[in-house]
Amino acid sequence: MNKQYEAAVIGGGIIGSAIAYYLAKEKIDTAVFDGGRIGEKTTSAAAGMLGAHSESIGDFSVFFPFARTSQRAYAALKDELYEQSGVDIGYKKGGILKLAYTEEDQKNLEPLLVQPTVQWLESEDVIYMEKEVSPDALGAAYIPDDVSVLPNRTCESFAKSAQALGASIFENHPVYSIEKQAGNYIIHTAQGDVEAKYVVVATGVLSNSLFKHLVLSERLSPVKGESLIVRADKPLLKHTLFHDSCYIVPRNNGTLVIGATMVENDWSDTVSLEGIQFLIEKAKTMMPAAAQLTIDRVIAGLRPGTFDGRPFIGRHPEDKHILVACGHYRNGILLAPATGQMIRDFILEKDIPSEWIEAFRVDRRQLVMA
Ligand SMILES: Cc1cc2nc3c(=O)[nH]c(=O)nc-3n(C[C@H](O)[C@H](O)[C@H](O)COP(=O)(O)OP(=O)(O)OC[C@H]3O[C@@H](n4cnc5c(N)ncnc54)[C@H](O)[C@@H]3O)c2cc1C
Repeated sequence: MNKQYEAAVIGGGIIGSAIAYYLAKEKIDTAVFDGGRIGEKTTSAAAGMLGAHSESIGDFSVFFPFARTSQRAYAALKDELYEQSGVDIGYKKGGILKLAYTEEDQKNLEPLLVQPTVQWLESEDVIYMEKEVSPDALGAAYIPDDVSVLPNRTCESFAKSAQALGASIFENHPVYSIEKQAGNYIIHTAQGDVEAKYVVVATGVLSNSLFKHLVLSERLSPVKGESLIVRADKPLLKHTLFHDSCYIVPRNNGTLVIGATMVENDWSDTVSLEGIQFLIEKAKTMMPAAAQLTIDRVIAGLRPGTFDGRPFIGRHPEDKHILVACGHYRNGILLAPATGQMIRDFILEKDIPSEWIEAFRVDRRQLVMA
Protein backbone atom coordinates (compact mmCIF):
# COMPACT_ATOMS: atom_id res chain seq x y z
CA MET A 1 0.00 0.00 0.00
CA ASN A 2 1.30 3.42 -0.99
CA LYS A 3 1.73 5.60 2.13
CA GLN A 4 0.76 9.05 0.92
CA TYR A 5 -2.30 10.33 -0.93
CA GLU A 6 -3.77 13.70 -1.63
CA ALA A 7 -7.25 12.49 -0.64
CA ALA A 8 -8.32 9.52 1.46
CA VAL A 9 -11.99 8.57 1.10
CA ILE A 10 -13.29 6.45 3.97
CA GLY A 11 -16.15 4.23 2.77
CA GLY A 12 -16.65 2.64 -0.62
CA GLY A 13 -20.44 2.67 -0.96
CA ILE A 14 -22.09 4.59 -3.79
CA ILE A 15 -21.14 7.92 -2.16
CA GLY A 16 -17.44 7.19 -1.52
CA SER A 17 -17.07 5.56 -4.92
CA ALA A 18 -18.66 8.50 -6.76
CA ILE A 19 -16.45 10.94 -4.83
CA ALA A 20 -13.34 8.92 -5.75
CA TYR A 21 -14.40 9.03 -9.40
CA TYR A 22 -14.79 12.81 -9.49
CA LEU A 23 -11.51 13.35 -7.62
CA ALA A 24 -9.57 10.93 -9.83
CA LYS A 25 -10.98 12.70 -12.90
CA GLU A 26 -9.24 15.85 -11.65
CA LYS A 27 -5.99 13.89 -11.25
CA ILE A 28 -6.20 14.16 -7.45
CA ASP A 29 -4.25 11.21 -6.04
CA THR A 30 -7.05 9.39 -4.22
CA ALA A 31 -7.39 6.23 -2.14
CA VAL A 32 -10.64 4.64 -0.97
CA PHE A 33 -10.67 2.53 2.22
CA ASP A 34 -13.63 0.26 2.87
CA GLY A 35 -14.00 -1.94 5.94
CA GLY A 36 -15.59 -4.67 3.79
CA ARG A 37 -16.29 -4.94 0.07
CA ILE A 38 -17.14 -2.03 -2.22
CA GLY A 39 -20.91 -1.42 -2.29
CA GLU A 40 -21.87 -4.30 0.00
CA LYS A 41 -23.68 -2.28 2.71
CA THR A 42 -26.74 -0.05 2.20
CA THR A 43 -25.92 0.52 -1.46
CA SER A 44 -26.56 -3.15 -2.24
CA ALA A 45 -30.10 -2.94 -0.79
CA ALA A 46 -31.27 0.04 -2.85
CA ALA A 47 -33.88 -0.17 -5.58
CA GLY A 48 -31.99 2.29 -7.80
CA MET A 49 -34.72 4.84 -8.53
CA LEU A 50 -33.40 8.27 -9.49
CA GLY A 51 -36.48 9.92 -8.03
CA ALA A 52 -35.57 13.60 -8.17
CA HIS A 53 -39.21 14.65 -8.54
CA SER A 54 -40.75 11.79 -6.66
CA GLU A 55 -38.60 12.34 -3.54
CA SER A 56 -38.77 16.15 -3.51
CA ILE A 57 -42.34 16.58 -2.29
CA GLY A 58 -42.00 19.03 0.61
CA ASP A 59 -38.53 20.24 -0.42
CA PHE A 60 -38.70 21.72 -3.92
CA SER A 61 -36.64 24.77 -2.92
CA VAL A 62 -33.24 23.18 -2.22
CA PHE A 63 -33.41 19.41 -2.43
CA PHE A 64 -35.03 19.35 -5.88
CA PRO A 65 -32.43 21.45 -7.79
CA PHE A 66 -29.63 19.40 -6.19
CA ALA A 67 -31.34 16.09 -6.93
CA ARG A 68 -32.22 17.16 -10.46
CA THR A 69 -28.57 18.13 -11.14
CA SER A 70 -27.55 14.68 -9.98
CA GLN A 71 -30.26 12.89 -11.93
CA ARG A 72 -29.31 14.76 -15.12
CA ALA A 73 -25.63 13.86 -14.64
CA TYR A 74 -26.50 10.17 -14.99
CA ALA A 75 -27.60 10.64 -18.61
CA ALA A 76 -23.97 11.27 -19.60
CA LEU A 77 -22.40 9.14 -16.85
CA LYS A 78 -23.94 5.91 -18.09
CA ASP A 79 -21.72 6.04 -21.21
CA GLU A 80 -18.74 7.71 -19.53
CA LEU A 81 -18.59 5.06 -16.78
CA TYR A 82 -19.05 2.23 -19.25
CA GLU A 83 -16.13 3.49 -21.32
CA GLN A 84 -13.88 3.73 -18.26
CA SER A 85 -14.90 0.52 -16.48
CA GLY A 86 -16.71 -1.77 -18.93
CA VAL A 87 -19.53 -2.01 -16.35
CA ASP A 88 -23.07 -1.24 -17.55
CA ILE A 89 -24.97 0.66 -14.82
CA GLY A 90 -28.36 -0.60 -16.08
CA TYR A 91 -29.84 2.82 -16.82
CA LYS A 92 -33.52 2.15 -17.46
CA LYS A 93 -35.89 4.68 -18.99
CA GLY A 94 -39.63 4.58 -18.41
CA GLY A 95 -39.95 6.71 -15.31
CA ILE A 96 -42.36 6.52 -12.40
CA LEU A 97 -46.15 6.35 -12.20
CA LYS A 98 -47.09 7.71 -8.76
CA LEU A 99 -50.51 6.20 -8.24
CA ALA A 100 -53.47 7.76 -6.44
CA TYR A 101 -56.23 5.62 -4.96
CA THR A 102 -58.05 8.26 -2.94
CA GLU A 103 -58.76 11.96 -3.21
CA GLU A 104 -56.24 12.47 -0.42
CA ASP A 105 -53.56 10.67 -2.48
CA GLN A 106 -54.44 12.91 -5.40
CA LYS A 107 -54.16 16.03 -3.23
CA ASN A 108 -50.76 14.88 -1.94
CA LEU A 109 -49.52 14.67 -5.52
CA GLU A 110 -50.57 18.25 -6.35
CA PRO A 111 -47.19 19.87 -5.47
CA LEU A 112 -45.53 17.53 -7.98
CA LEU A 113 -47.90 18.49 -10.77
CA VAL A 114 -46.63 22.09 -10.67
CA GLN A 115 -43.40 20.81 -12.27
CA PRO A 116 -43.58 21.00 -16.10
CA THR A 117 -41.88 17.59 -16.26
CA VAL A 118 -44.78 15.86 -14.44
CA GLN A 119 -48.13 15.05 -15.98
CA TRP A 120 -51.45 13.90 -14.45
CA LEU A 121 -52.90 10.80 -16.11
CA GLU A 122 -56.48 9.60 -15.64
CA SER A 123 -57.12 5.98 -14.72
CA GLU A 124 -57.77 4.81 -18.30
CA ASP A 125 -54.52 6.42 -19.52
CA VAL A 126 -52.59 4.69 -16.75
CA ILE A 127 -54.07 1.32 -17.73
CA TYR A 128 -53.35 2.05 -21.39
CA MET A 129 -49.67 2.54 -20.42
CA GLU A 130 -49.47 -0.35 -17.96
CA LYS A 131 -52.19 -2.92 -18.39
CA GLU A 132 -51.35 -4.74 -15.14
CA VAL A 133 -52.03 -1.72 -12.91
CA SER A 134 -55.01 -2.12 -10.61
CA PRO A 135 -58.14 -0.50 -12.13
CA ASP A 136 -58.90 0.90 -8.65
CA ALA A 137 -56.34 3.69 -9.24
CA LEU A 138 -57.98 7.10 -9.79
CA GLY A 139 -54.97 8.16 -11.85
CA ALA A 140 -51.26 8.83 -11.51
CA ALA A 141 -48.61 11.52 -11.64
CA TYR A 142 -46.38 10.43 -14.51
CA ILE A 143 -42.70 11.38 -14.13
CA PRO A 144 -40.78 10.24 -17.23
CA ASP A 145 -37.44 11.67 -15.98
CA ASP A 146 -37.35 9.61 -12.76
CA VAL A 147 -35.50 6.71 -14.39
CA SER A 148 -33.54 3.98 -12.58
CA VAL A 149 -30.14 2.27 -12.45
CA LEU A 150 -28.74 -0.90 -10.89
CA PRO A 151 -27.16 0.32 -7.61
CA ASN A 152 -24.49 -2.39 -7.25
CA ARG A 153 -23.37 -2.01 -10.83
CA THR A 154 -23.33 1.76 -10.55
CA CYS A 155 -21.17 1.63 -7.43
CA GLU A 156 -18.83 -0.91 -9.03
CA SER A 157 -18.64 1.20 -12.15
CA PHE A 158 -17.76 4.37 -10.19
CA ALA A 159 -15.07 2.49 -8.24
CA LYS A 160 -13.57 0.77 -11.29
CA SER A 161 -13.65 4.02 -13.29
CA ALA A 162 -11.89 5.81 -10.43
CA GLN A 163 -9.28 3.04 -10.46
CA ALA A 164 -8.86 3.33 -14.23
CA LEU A 165 -8.16 7.04 -13.68
CA GLY A 166 -5.47 6.28 -11.08
CA ALA A 167 -7.30 5.96 -7.74
CA SER A 168 -6.39 3.14 -5.35
CA ILE A 169 -9.17 1.02 -3.83
CA PHE A 170 -8.54 -0.88 -0.61
CA GLU A 171 -11.22 -3.36 0.47
CA ASN A 172 -11.18 -4.97 3.94
CA HIS A 173 -9.40 -1.91 5.32
CA PRO A 174 -11.54 -0.59 8.20
CA VAL A 175 -10.44 2.86 9.36
CA TYR A 176 -10.23 3.20 13.14
CA SER A 177 -9.08 6.77 13.64
CA ILE A 178 -7.67 9.88 12.02
CA GLU A 179 -4.90 11.93 13.52
CA LYS A 180 -3.57 15.35 12.51
CA GLN A 181 0.22 15.52 12.20
CA ALA A 182 2.21 18.41 10.75
CA GLY A 183 -0.66 19.68 8.60
CA ASN A 184 -1.53 16.27 7.16
CA TYR A 185 -3.69 13.38 8.42
CA ILE A 186 -2.56 9.96 9.49
CA ILE A 187 -5.33 7.47 8.78
CA HIS A 188 -5.11 4.40 10.95
CA THR A 189 -6.48 1.33 9.17
CA ALA A 190 -6.51 -2.29 10.28
CA GLN A 191 -3.80 -2.94 7.66
CA GLY A 192 -1.49 -0.05 8.57
CA ASP A 193 -1.30 3.73 8.45
CA VAL A 194 -1.45 6.09 5.48
CA GLU A 195 -1.08 9.83 5.17
CA ALA A 196 -3.38 12.20 3.29
CA LYS A 197 -3.87 15.92 2.83
CA TYR A 198 -7.70 15.64 2.66
CA VAL A 199 -9.96 13.12 4.40
CA VAL A 200 -13.50 12.43 3.20
CA VAL A 201 -15.86 10.61 5.57
CA ALA A 202 -18.33 8.64 3.41
CA THR A 203 -19.21 5.84 5.79
CA GLY A 204 -23.02 5.92 5.42
CA VAL A 205 -25.06 4.90 8.45
CA LEU A 206 -21.88 3.63 10.14
CA SER A 207 -20.49 7.17 10.53
CA ASN A 208 -21.25 7.66 14.23
CA SER A 209 -17.94 6.48 15.66
CA LEU A 210 -15.92 8.61 13.22
CA PHE A 211 -18.23 11.58 13.89
CA LYS A 212 -17.56 11.20 17.61
CA HIS A 213 -13.86 10.85 16.99
CA LEU A 214 -13.91 14.04 14.86
CA VAL A 215 -15.91 15.90 17.56
CA LEU A 216 -19.01 16.26 15.39
CA SER A 217 -22.12 16.24 17.53
CA GLU A 218 -24.62 14.96 14.92
CA ARG A 219 -25.46 11.24 14.71
CA LEU A 220 -26.87 9.08 11.95
CA SER A 221 -29.84 6.85 12.70
CA PRO A 222 -30.89 3.80 10.69
CA VAL A 223 -34.20 3.43 8.90
CA LYS A 224 -34.28 -0.20 7.89
CA GLY A 225 -35.79 -1.09 4.51
CA GLU A 226 -36.77 -4.63 3.54
CA SER A 227 -37.40 -5.54 -0.10
CA LEU A 228 -38.31 -8.50 -2.28
CA ILE A 229 -36.53 -9.26 -5.54
CA VAL A 230 -39.00 -11.13 -7.75
CA ARG A 231 -39.19 -12.63 -11.24
CA ALA A 232 -41.98 -12.91 -13.80
CA ASP A 233 -42.25 -15.32 -16.76
CA LYS A 234 -42.65 -12.37 -19.13
CA PRO A 235 -41.98 -8.62 -18.80
CA LEU A 236 -44.88 -7.17 -16.79
CA LEU A 237 -44.00 -3.49 -16.36
CA LYS A 238 -42.25 -0.77 -18.33
CA HIS A 239 -42.59 1.91 -15.64
CA THR A 240 -41.94 1.96 -11.90
CA LEU A 241 -45.18 1.90 -9.90
CA PHE A 242 -45.11 3.94 -6.68
CA HIS A 243 -47.66 4.44 -3.95
CA ASP A 244 -47.32 5.56 -0.36
CA SER A 245 -43.52 5.07 -0.14
CA CYS A 246 -43.78 1.55 -1.66
CA TYR A 247 -42.86 0.66 -5.21
CA ILE A 248 -42.39 -1.99 -7.88
CA VAL A 249 -39.31 -1.25 -9.98
CA PRO A 250 -38.76 -3.23 -13.21
CA ARG A 251 -35.06 -3.71 -13.90
CA ASN A 252 -33.12 -4.22 -17.10
CA ASN A 253 -32.03 -7.67 -15.93
CA GLY A 254 -35.61 -9.07 -15.93
CA THR A 255 -36.18 -8.86 -12.16
CA LEU A 256 -38.49 -6.51 -10.28
CA VAL A 257 -37.89 -4.94 -6.88
CA ILE A 258 -40.82 -4.69 -4.48
CA GLY A 259 -39.88 -2.30 -1.71
CA ALA A 260 -39.59 -1.15 0.87
CA THR A 261 -40.49 -1.11 4.55
CA MET A 262 -39.47 1.81 6.79
CA VAL A 263 -38.40 0.56 10.24
CA GLU A 264 -36.92 3.35 12.37
CA ASN A 265 -33.93 2.78 14.65
CA ASP A 266 -33.48 -0.89 13.79
CA TRP A 267 -29.80 -1.77 13.35
CA SER A 268 -30.45 -5.37 12.26
CA ASP A 269 -30.31 -6.41 8.60
CA THR A 270 -32.79 -9.26 8.91
CA VAL A 271 -36.06 -9.53 6.96
CA SER A 272 -39.24 -10.21 8.94
CA LEU A 273 -42.34 -12.14 7.84
CA GLU A 274 -44.36 -9.07 8.77
CA GLY A 275 -42.22 -7.00 6.39
CA ILE A 276 -42.68 -9.49 3.55
CA GLN A 277 -46.43 -9.66 4.15
CA PHE A 278 -46.69 -5.86 4.09
CA LEU A 279 -44.78 -5.68 0.81
CA ILE A 280 -46.87 -8.39 -0.86
CA GLU A 281 -50.09 -6.60 0.12
CA LYS A 282 -48.80 -3.22 -1.13
CA ALA A 283 -47.61 -4.80 -4.40
CA LYS A 284 -50.98 -6.49 -5.00
CA THR A 285 -52.77 -3.17 -4.43
CA MET A 286 -50.71 -1.59 -7.21
CA MET A 287 -50.62 -4.62 -9.48
CA PRO A 288 -52.89 -7.62 -8.71
CA ALA A 289 -50.70 -9.92 -10.87
CA ALA A 290 -47.92 -9.47 -8.28
CA ALA A 291 -49.40 -12.47 -6.43
CA GLN A 292 -48.10 -14.74 -9.23
CA LEU A 293 -44.49 -13.49 -9.14
CA THR A 294 -41.69 -15.78 -7.97
CA ILE A 295 -39.50 -14.66 -5.06
CA ASP A 296 -35.85 -14.59 -6.07
CA ARG A 297 -34.49 -13.28 -2.75
CA VAL A 298 -35.19 -10.93 0.13
CA ILE A 299 -32.88 -8.10 1.14
CA ALA A 300 -32.59 -5.47 3.85
CA GLY A 301 -30.49 -2.36 4.26
CA LEU A 302 -30.13 0.56 6.65
CA ARG A 303 -30.93 3.96 5.19
CA PRO A 304 -28.58 6.53 6.75
CA GLY A 305 -31.06 8.94 8.35
CA THR A 306 -30.36 12.48 9.58
CA PHE A 307 -32.44 14.71 11.89
CA ASP A 308 -34.04 16.58 8.95
CA GLY A 309 -33.86 14.04 6.13
CA ARG A 310 -31.21 15.98 4.22
CA PRO A 311 -27.66 14.62 3.78
CA PHE A 312 -24.53 15.99 5.42
CA ILE A 313 -22.22 17.19 2.64
CA GLY A 314 -19.56 19.71 3.50
CA ARG A 315 -16.50 20.70 5.43
CA HIS A 316 -15.81 19.93 9.05
CA PRO A 317 -16.74 23.22 10.82
CA GLU A 318 -13.22 23.53 12.30
CA ASP A 319 -11.06 21.98 9.61
CA LYS A 320 -11.53 22.49 5.89
CA HIS A 321 -9.35 19.50 5.04
CA ILE A 322 -11.87 17.10 6.57
CA LEU A 323 -14.99 16.62 4.49
CA VAL A 324 -18.18 14.77 5.26
CA ALA A 325 -20.57 13.08 2.80
CA CYS A 326 -23.10 10.84 4.49
CA GLY A 327 -26.72 10.63 5.62
CA HIS A 328 -28.22 10.27 2.15
CA TYR A 329 -31.25 8.47 3.63
CA ARG A 330 -33.57 7.28 0.79
CA ASN A 331 -31.59 8.91 -2.01
CA GLY A 332 -27.91 7.98 -2.04
CA ILE A 333 -28.02 6.46 -5.51
CA LEU A 334 -29.82 9.50 -6.90
CA LEU A 335 -27.54 12.01 -5.13
CA ALA A 336 -24.16 10.30 -5.69
CA PRO A 337 -23.05 12.32 -8.75
CA ALA A 338 -23.97 15.72 -7.27
CA THR A 339 -22.35 14.74 -3.95
CA GLY A 340 -19.15 13.65 -5.72
CA GLN A 341 -19.06 16.92 -7.65
CA MET A 342 -19.68 18.99 -4.53
CA ILE A 343 -16.86 17.32 -2.57
CA ARG A 344 -14.58 17.78 -5.59
CA ASP A 345 -15.49 21.48 -5.67
CA PHE A 346 -14.82 21.92 -1.94
CA ILE A 347 -11.35 20.43 -2.40
CA LEU A 348 -10.61 22.47 -5.53
CA GLU A 349 -12.13 25.54 -3.83
CA LYS A 350 -14.51 26.09 -6.74
CA ASP A 351 -17.86 27.89 -6.54
CA ILE A 352 -20.72 25.91 -4.99
CA PRO A 353 -24.29 27.30 -4.76
CA SER A 354 -24.46 28.85 -1.28
CA GLU A 355 -27.93 27.41 -0.62
CA TRP A 356 -26.51 23.89 -1.05
CA ILE A 357 -23.65 24.64 1.34
CA GLU A 358 -26.12 25.92 3.96
CA ALA A 359 -28.71 23.17 3.48
CA PHE A 360 -26.27 20.28 3.76
CA ARG A 361 -23.65 21.58 6.21
CA VAL A 362 -22.96 19.19 9.05
CA ASP A 363 -23.38 21.80 11.81
CA ARG A 364 -26.66 23.29 10.50
CA ARG A 365 -28.71 22.32 13.55
CA GLN A 366 -26.29 24.00 15.97
CA LEU A 367 -26.25 27.15 13.80
CA VAL A 368 -30.04 27.44 13.90
CA MET A 369 -30.10 26.87 17.67
CA ALA A 370 -27.32 29.37 18.41
C1 LIG B 1 -34.48 -0.70 0.90
C2 LIG B 1 -33.74 0.50 0.37
C3 LIG B 1 -34.09 1.03 -0.85
C4 LIG B 1 -33.43 2.16 -1.34
N1 LIG B 1 -33.75 2.63 -2.58
C5 LIG B 1 -33.11 3.72 -3.07
C6 LIG B 1 -33.42 4.20 -4.38
O1 LIG B 1 -34.27 3.65 -5.07
N2 LIG B 1 -32.75 5.31 -4.82
C7 LIG B 1 -31.81 5.94 -4.08
O2 LIG B 1 -31.26 6.95 -4.53
N3 LIG B 1 -31.48 5.49 -2.85
C8 LIG B 1 -32.11 4.40 -2.32
N4 LIG B 1 -31.81 3.93 -1.08
C9 LIG B 1 -30.85 4.71 -0.26
C10 LIG B 1 -29.42 4.37 -0.63
O3 LIG B 1 -29.24 2.98 -0.66
C11 LIG B 1 -28.45 4.99 0.40
O4 LIG B 1 -28.74 6.37 0.57
C12 LIG B 1 -27.00 4.84 -0.10
O5 LIG B 1 -26.73 3.51 -0.38
C13 LIG B 1 -26.02 5.36 0.94
O6 LIG B 1 -24.76 5.15 0.40
P1 LIG B 1 -23.43 5.34 1.26
O7 LIG B 1 -22.29 5.15 0.34
O8 LIG B 1 -23.54 6.60 2.04
O9 LIG B 1 -23.52 4.17 2.35
P2 LIG B 1 -23.12 2.62 2.23
O10 LIG B 1 -23.59 2.01 0.98
O11 LIG B 1 -23.57 1.99 3.51
O12 LIG B 1 -21.55 2.66 2.18
C14 LIG B 1 -20.77 3.03 3.29
C15 LIG B 1 -19.49 2.22 3.22
O13 LIG B 1 -18.61 2.65 4.26
C16 LIG B 1 -17.92 1.53 4.76
N5 LIG B 1 -17.46 1.85 6.11
C17 LIG B 1 -18.21 2.16 7.18
N6 LIG B 1 -17.42 2.43 8.26
C18 LIG B 1 -16.14 2.31 7.82
C19 LIG B 1 -14.85 2.46 8.42
N7 LIG B 1 -14.71 2.83 9.71
N8 LIG B 1 -13.75 2.23 7.66
C20 LIG B 1 -13.85 1.89 6.36
N9 LIG B 1 -15.05 1.72 5.74
C21 LIG B 1 -16.16 1.92 6.45
C22 LIG B 1 -18.93 0.40 4.72
O14 LIG B 1 -18.28 -0.86 4.67
C23 LIG B 1 -19.72 0.72 3.45
O15 LIG B 1 -19.25 0.00 2.31
C24 LIG B 1 -32.41 2.79 -0.57
C25 LIG B 1 -32.06 2.24 0.66
C26 LIG B 1 -32.70 1.10 1.13
C27 LIG B 1 -32.29 0.51 2.44
